[in-house]
Amino acid sequence: MKHLTHLLIFLALTALTQLGGIIGWLSLPVLRLIRRPSRWQQTGLRGAAFLLIYTLSVFSFVPTLAQWNGRVPLPCFASDVAPLQAANVGYCLLMRNYVTPATQTRLLTVARQVREVHPDSTVRYLDANFPFLNGFPLLPHLSHNDGRKVDLAFFYQRKDTHEPLNASPSWLGYWCYEQPQHPKEAACLGKPSHLRWDFDWLQPRYAAYEMDAVRTRTLLQLLAADTQKVLLEPHLQTRLGVQAANVKFQGCRAARHDDHVHAQW
Ligand SMILES: [Zn+2]
Repeated sequence: MKHLTHLLIFLALTALTQLGGIIGWLSLPVLRLIRRPSRWQQTGLRGAAFLLIYTLSVFSFVPTLAQWNGRVPLPCFASDVAPLQAANVGYCLLMRNYVTPATQTRLLTVARQVREVHPDSTVRYLDANFPFLNGFPLLPHLSHNDGRKVDLAFFYQRKDTHEPLNASPSWLGYWCYEQPQHPKEAACLGKPSHLRWDFDWLQPRYAAYEMDAVRTRTLLQLLAADTQKVLLEPHLQTRLGVQAANVKFQGCRAARHDDHVHAQW
């Protein structure tokens, strides 16, 4: 039972963070030094020690090793020279913010260009790639496996005052859907798929916000001019006037792209 629990934790950490399972396994000799008469106290202290070792690893040796493998982390927090950051710091902590050096350079250039047009605006990224191994998928995105794919958040504003928002309404940055303005514009009407999530029950939480069409259009135009492919729902391609051969619809048997944009270089 104990071995099965350890295996399940290892698999979950590997799926979520790629290296978390290995870091946990390598830390076991250290964690076993922690002994307490109370089982709960011992488990709690070992868990806290693992989190400390894990966090130190994320910010110390993992970026160095990843660089040898041709991957670099995107910045967790924005600065004047790099106006790009994670929509949620969890993407950095889970090591889901790695890209190739070329992708990092191109995305940072796009982020700087956005800021030239819209001062004080910061481009926010969601899931990118893991630090190692081409072909290792970053679930649930099967294609984020080569360091060249990055999901980016839209820009948002308050619906009532149109005041720009410098964050995503949803804490993950995903699942705050910009619905088609007319139901007949919905791309997958009558074609339900378990791979296309609508999360209708979540949408009332974000009712006070809407996509900032002006800033999002700037971002999408820059991406369309720079990337190999951009995935965006057709109703947003039309509404924002972003139409190019490399701006595509992902189809109905995949996640929606009207809560974020997928860019690949
Ligand atoms: Zn994507």
